Amino acid sequence: MSTLSALSALGNHLFPSERMPIMFIGHGNPMNAIEDNNYHKSWQAMGKALPRPQAILSVSAHWITSGTKVTGMSQPKTIHDFGGFPKKLFEQEYPAPGSPEMAALTKQLVIYSHIQTDDSWGLDHGTWSVLLPMYPAADIPVFQLSLDYDQPPTYHYEIGKQLSKLRDKGVLIIGSGNLVHNLGKVDWSGGNKVYDWALEFDKKFTEWMDKGDHKSILDYQKILGTTATMAHPSYDHLLPLFYILGLQQKNEKITYFNEQFDMASISMRSVVIK
Ligand code: ZN
Repeated sequence: MSTLSALSALGNHLFPSERMPIMFIGHGNPMNAIEDNNYHKSWQAMGKALPRPQAILSVSAHWITSGTKVTGMSQPKTIHDFGGFPKKLFEQEYPAPGSPEMAALTKQLVIYSHIQTDDSWGLDHGTWSVLLPMYPAADIPVFQLSLDYDQPPTYHYEIGKQLSKLRDKGVLIIGSGNLVHNLGKVDWSGGNKVYDWALEFDKKFTEWMDKGDHKSILDYQKILGTTATMAHPSYDHLLPLFYILGLQQKNEKITYFNEQFDMASISMRSVVIK
């Protein structure tokens, strides 16, 4: 069964509880925001299957800062942080309100690090390219948490843990990146090739996630060596996953969707935990 039909079959009964699920979404090409492809459709279906959030916190691969920041503005702007795409993509706006209240609560909850309020960012494409299909009305408040790239995996994981209470407040927390992401190695031929190191990295992480072996995940650079550096020459697209795994409770199950590769070096594997 395709991801899409699986999601449709589960419908609204997928997430019966009050506590919001958490997600890691492989966003891939920004064009997925507007192209009527399977990724776009899966995000549309996900938006319908999830309980309606009170607010959305996005941890996007595309917001790197010194220190960790949370957007505190009431009306975040849409950021078109890419180049070389059709005009139509630049014309897209995602005018969701922000959530200064939830941003303030986030700062209170996280004691592992001092979270700073940001008034200049907005919603980058890691966030809006996914939310546009999921929640096209843009009427749910959205705020973002940044990535301090200089920090080790444990830092991101520990902050993730401390965001847990937001789920009980109806906040949908989404990590937006890609499980494998090497832009320098993308295959433009349109074939179905996937690099061995991409397959291996995706498989290993999936095994660890299935087992709840977060220790190995946090130690992945040492364990996987060159496979790790090939899968993530820079690891900005992997970092959002650490927040989501930090949020996972012991009794919570992990399921996957969009388990496929784009252009040989990008894993679109996405995760729902509830
Ligand atoms: Zn990206």
